[in-house]
Amino acid sequence: MELTHESRLDDILLYINGEFVAASSNETFENKNPFTNQPINRVASGEKADIDMAVSAARAAFKGEWGSLKLKDRLAYINRIADLIDEHIDEIAPLESLDTGLPIHQTKKMVARAAQNFRFYAEMVSTRLTGDAYQVDDDFLNYTVHKPVGVAGLITPWNAPFMLETWKIAPALATGNTVVLKPAEWSPLTANRLAEIIHKADLPKGVFNVVHGYGETAGAALVAHPDAPLISFTGETKTGSEIMKNGADPLKRFSMELGGKSPIIVFDDADLDRAMDAVTWGIFSFNGERCTANSRLFVHESIYDTFVEQLMERVKNIRVGDPLDDKTQVGPLIHTEHYENVKRYLGIAKDEGAQVVSGHVDEAHADGNFVPPTLLLNVTNDMTVAQEEIFGPVMCVMPFKDESQVIEMANDIRYGLAGYVWTNDMKRGHRVAQKVDAGMMWVNSQNVRDLRTPFGGSKHSGIGREGGYYAFEFYTEIQIVHVALGDHPIPQFGKEKRT
Ligand code: NAD
Repeated sequence: MELTHESRLDDILLYINGEFVAASSNETFENKNPFTNQPINRVASGEKADIDMAVSAARAAFKGEWGSLKLKDRLAYINRIADLIDEHIDEIAPLESLDTGLPIHQTKKMVARAAQNFRFYAEMVSTRLTGDAYQVDDDFLNYTVHKPVGVAGLITPWNAPFMLETWKIAPALATGNTVVLKPAEWSPLTANRLAEIIHKADLPKGVFNVVHGYGETAGAALVAHPDAPLISFTGETKTGSEIMKNGADPLKRFSMELGGKSPIIVFDDADLDRAMDAVTWGIFSFNGERCTANSRLFVHESIYDTFVEQLMERVKNIRVGDPLDDKTQVGPLIHTEHYENVKRYLGIAKDEGAQVVSGHVDEAHADGNFVPPTLLLNVTNDMTVAQEEIFGPVMCVMPFKDESQVIEMANDIRYGLAGYVWTNDMKRGHRVAQKVDAGMMWVNSQNVRDLRTPFGGSKHSGIGREGGYYAFEFYTEIQIVHVALGDHPIPQFGKEKRT
């Protein structure tokens, strides 16, 4: 069946212990299409009782069938999931676009990436999940092993939901843990499709569970559950702090992927055509709802006027429209609440004295959550709009005088997720990259990432690293085994008669 904006889909259930079930309260919530703001379907609203069942199923699977599988059999399941996703890209991508408003040509790539995530981690675990050995003279051999931890609680956001969910699920399962996923309430469709795919891949019952529901109920119950020792969270910084507080008593291990307000710095010696492509793609792809978006542009003062003039021309030409149309470059924002928040920031920008330059949205799209691609000019680094994450197609543009000034401006913010430098002076490229406080930097490149490299942020953008073998630190317990090779002296307490 071809998906259209008129499509009404079956209601979504929870997936617990290998079965699709209603929430124990029987409560549901509505899921809306951001292009029309009409309902798509209803979603089972899980709470503590459902989380309890899902964690207990996941724990039983960990202690039972999944935990005793041979590595090759476990990884065969992981590769099978990848194959099934690949087979269904043309069906999953429109679902994701319908649910999130992300343009279809972008969701197709993200679904393909989701399959790669599974294949990649099957390969990584078989080749790189290795321990160390320490020979201590002739007396000892010590070695480390990586063991799965148990039930991984994965809490995910609504931007690029399918890709981000699999980015956590793949390493969690491949390293031998079991999973309870709490997807974002605004984008449940593809998490449900993933549960169907994993069901079809015939994983043992309870290995993978999905509990839809609100953060304050389902999410919070997962964070507080004593039998889910791992919490991998991607979302807003303030939610991350709240989760860390709630997970303090049960002493959870956290991976935190949080907000960003990333700088892109364009020097006057850069390849300006390519820099222009990178700047526009980096902020306006994924509707600007992208954690690594370059939402702060710093342009050298000697090229500022011409660069900004061309940028304004680009912004006017961006095709804003139907996310299911292959030609669309920017679609509607996920939800009316988020749309109102982004519009609120545009109001703040005007109040703060910024010049707001926006692209075009066709009147025919008035029902959708459309914010046109927007540049904020006459901005200073201390303005609210330059400091807070707007998470929409909105970029602050500021001139700079020299290298030291731009590094100071780039770092004068609480976030530190990503950054981009454009220059043909390679010494300067390396120098600036290393001086920007960010977990990830790109030089003359726009967010091209090898899956082996670490992903994550510094400052208020995150704690820990995902990606490559860096994810093993979070998803596995490192155990050291000390083995005596001979008879080393042992103090002999109590061996002599007490006098
Ligand atoms: P959010 O923090 O509102 O929600 C994320 C998830 O947390 C949702 O599933 C939500 O239901 C759940 N949640 C909310 N309150 C909770 C609570 N008290 N306990 C447990 N769970 C709770 O984030 P969002 O609006 O869905 O996503 C956008 C944010 O995510 C942006 O800030 C963006 O930068 C960030 N993000 C970061 C990365 C990264 O890798 N650093 C990637 C993508 C998105």
